[in-house]
Amino acid sequence: MTITDASLIRVSSFWGAIFVFLVLELLAPYRKSSVSKAKRWINNITLTVFNSVVLELVFAGAVVTTAAYVTTRHLGVLNLVELPQWAKIFVTVAFMDFMLYIWHLLNHEVPLLWRFHRVHHSDLNMDVSTATRFHIGELSISAIIKISLVFLLGASLVGVLIFESVLVLFAQFHHSSLRVPKWFESVFWMLFVPPSMHRIHHSVILKERDTNYGTIFSTWDRWLGTLLTDVDQSRIRIGIGAYQQPDQLYFHHLLAMPITRPVK
Ligand SMILES: [Zn+2]
Repeated sequence: MTITDASLIRVSSFWGAIFVFLVLELLAPYRKSSVSKAKRWINNITLTVFNSVVLELVFAGAVVTTAAYVTTRHLGVLNLVELPQWAKIFVTVAFMDFMLYIWHLLNHEVPLLWRFHRVHHSDLNMDVSTATRFHIGELSISAIIKISLVFLLGASLVGVLIFESVLVLFAQFHHSSLRVPKWFESVFWMLFVPPSMHRIHHSVILKERDTNYGTIFSTWDRWLGTLLTDVDQSRIRIGIGAYQQPDQLYFHHLLAMPITRPVK
């Protein structure tokens, strides 16, 4: 597989899944929107396209290039050990997801990082478009961290591609405003992050927001004591207490948010 193939798969699976989740959300919504879905979509998709263009210009496939580089030169931890290919891919997905858990926790605990991460949490409703509502500053720092981790781990191109695809799919699923059967959620919750678990993370209440940091596996939250399950889902209000007006949350407000007053 070439790097162009990898980028093509990434881009098409990303937009394809956004479309599928949007249709499903419209057919079986979890609950009614409290603010205009169309206006939120304009902001979130503008931000997503803007981020994709900037990241492409600055990092231009740097993650996949690093993966291809460490594989051909046999660099990194995974290239020092004898393991079947499937096991290396599993280690890549689990390790990268755990690092993302730590990074997400730091985004809530370190005031400077929260300045960027609050752009994601300021969405007043949650749906599949929330999954990519991030500030370019947060994405740039996390891209540098991700490249360093791929280098240290010696992750293969296939391993990175599978991790990125699974990550995007899980993030889109658990942000979606989709009515999911209760039995499915409770089984899924044992190992993975379902929408109800991540909805608690988007609550305006601080002690609910600073929990459930996982993206793919729910195990990290379970093992490290940050899992919160016992919340009445019907009364969760999404967003940040200080940002409750939709007309203060347009694209240009989101871009400037990290350099405006600090809010919890
Ligand atoms: Zn968060």
